Amino acid sequence: MARLPYKKTLEEFDFTFQPSVDKKVIHEMATMSFVYQAVNLVFLGPPGVGKSHLAVALATAALSQGYSAYFVNVAELMDELKRAQEENRLNARMRKYLRPKLLVIDEVGYLPFDPVAASLFFQLISTRYEQGSVILTSNKGLGDWGQMFGDAVLATAILDRLLHHAHIVNIRGASYRMRDKMRSGVYGSPAREGSATV
Ligand code: ADP
Ligand code: MG
Repeated sequence: MARLPYKKTLEEFDFTFQPSVDKKVIHEMATMSFVYQAVNLVFLGPPGVGKSHLAVALATAALSQGYSAYFVNVAELMDELKRAQEENRLNARMRKYLRPKLLVIDEVGYLPFDPVAASLFFQLISTRYEQGSVILTSNKGLGDWGQMFGDAVLATAILDRLLHHAHIVNIRGASYRMRDKMRSGVYGSPAREGSATV
């Protein structure tokens, strides 16, 4: 029911490969004190560094501790909310994303938000504010959010709610997907470009 896209656990995460991720901090998150306190987690970084893996693993931990959780890709989320608004059933659809104690919103930043989507996203984040946790993953640094939402004022309002009670994990470093290729020398040294900055 949580619609997790695949099975990943924290035990499967190689912290030695990604030294910018503090194992102690992630294991503290796995106690779910952040869910209890309706604190948000924001995982930032370039593709392949483990953002979705950590989000799925933490959602799995939440479920095993009895919290409701739901995983959604941001593109699917925005499509659903926009369609619901057009069909005058936005409130019912919003409830689906307000009800879980933990909502994972994956892959924010790959596509820009049009004005309708940006406004719906703001509604969702501000209604969940201090009510339930969000884990958000993004390949865009927070400084790029104004451009991503096409509206600096709205982006600031979203970040204000999202970050008031939040932990930001900024993952720098190489893509795990490229690990074997880098080892075999296909790519030379790890690519650093595109690292998110706050
Ligand atoms: P992102 O969401 O940051 O683009 P993913 O979480 O999808 O990256 O990671 C890409 C793949 O690499 C997944 O199969 C994931 O399980 C794996 N992976 C990434 N980082 C690690 C890691 N440090 N240890 C083990 N597997 C990892
Ligand atoms: Mg991902």
